[in-house]
Amino acid sequence: MRVGVIGVQGDVSEHVAAVRAAMKKGGFGGDVVTIRRREDLAGCNALTIPGGESTTIGKLLERSGLHEDIVNRAAEGMPILGTCAGCILLAKEGDRQVAQTKTKLLGLMDMAVDRNAFGRQRESFEADLAVDGLDRPFHGVFIRAPAITRTWSACKIASKLDGAIVFARQGHLWGACFHPELSGDLRIHVAFLEQV
Ligand code: GLN
Repeated sequence: MRVGVIGVQGDVSEHVAAVRAAMKKGGFGGDVVTIRRREDLAGCNALTIPGGESTTIGKLLERSGLHEDIVNRAAEGMPILGTCAGCILLAKEGDRQVAQTKTKLLGLMDMAVDRNAFGRQRESFEADLAVDGLDRPFHGVFIRAPAITRTWSACKIASKLDGAIVFARQGHLWGACFHPELSGDLRIHVAFLEQV
């Protein structure tokens, strides 16, 4: 398999390292490539979109033409894992901040998101999460995290924290408000790669 990591801004090297480690752990052969231009994506059969600033990442995806390619490849069934800012971009509906910054969402998952939803006091925090399909709690690292406020149709809730949805899956499209690439627990990545 060849897994792409969107590399325009954000915690790119952490994503590359986590995907590489998960490939090893899951016994999958293949490589990980950082994606900055359209031609980088062509040979990939799965993609992750890191955390960072959704406004910046969104703009750079549009400018490079990658926005369109990601939407097309998702329609063909390419698995995509978006974390934090990446999760925001996967959503069909954003909040006022998304509108004000004119962020063009990829609009792939049937869910609505609120940016920076956990407030100033909780800019970053960690919490153990019950995740659908995992037998033990997953340690979630949240950094200026969004919340998923609503899911509909084929988009299913995979984890909640204090009433907020923090992980959702729609078939091959996965959006996490936390950073599975930062907790050292590879279970979400390994399960994601099993689809490839
Ligand atoms: N607050 C950021 C945003 O709205 C996301 C933060 C993150 O990705 N760690 O884009």
